[in-house]
Amino acid sequence: PLFADSGLHPLILQAIAETGYVSPTPIQAQAMPVILDGRDVMGAAQTGTGKTAAFTLPILHRLMPLASTSTSPARHPVRALMLTPTRELADQVADNVRLYASRTPLRSAVVFGGVDIAPQKAQLRQGCEVLIATPGRLLDHIEQKTVNLSQVGILVLDEADRMLDMGFLPDLERIIRMLPSTRQTLLFSATFSKDIRKLAHSYLNHPVEIEV
Ligand code: AMP
Repeated sequence: PLFADSGLHPLILQAIAETGYVSPTPIQAQAMPVILDGRDVMGAAQTGTGKTAAFTLPILHRLMPLASTSTSPARHPVRALMLTPTRELADQVADNVRLYASRTPLRSAVVFGGVDIAPQKAQLRQGCEVLIATPGRLLDHIEQKTVNLSQVGILVLDEADRMLDMGFLPDLERIIRMLPSTRQTLLFSATFSKDIRKLAHSYLNHPVEIEV
């Protein structure tokens, strides 16, 4: 299969071509059509499989009809929230999102702990359709009202097993409770443990299971 035949928005295909990708990886070939359909997904995939693009590309496609070319921050509410366990992973995911959205009017931002919060607040004030965050720092921004999650229609839990291992379950529950209940939820994890299945059962709606 070729990306050119994937049905992705031309501006996203342009970024993919510039990056040099020709064919989807197995996780991308399986997950992209399901995510484009609006279904929830429970994906078992390790880093290095192309997992990040597998969820980012169809999410960007789904957001394109909502993309505004206005410079007004109010026209760029958060539509997709991607939660990751660590600063390093948040940065990596954010790099991917920036790359694949580079030809689109969609904006992204990344927030994580361990660094000054002020520049993050300034960035959030600009507006962003895609927000990549670690749970603790996102809660800080929610408490300080620097972020509004009322328009989030897509939630990604990346490396969910690591988030649980790091004790983020209470933070995740607090965050998810603040999101609109009508949304698409995508959970990625190295393995489907009992705790991961419990999390999925609580927050995903008839997920399609994908394992590569
Ligand atoms: P990930 O598993 O998301 O960390 O991605 C692993 C690496 O594969 C990254 O460096 C991506 O840039 C690269 N990659 C992702 N999808 C493709 C693809 N379809 N073709 C070639 N390389 C890819």
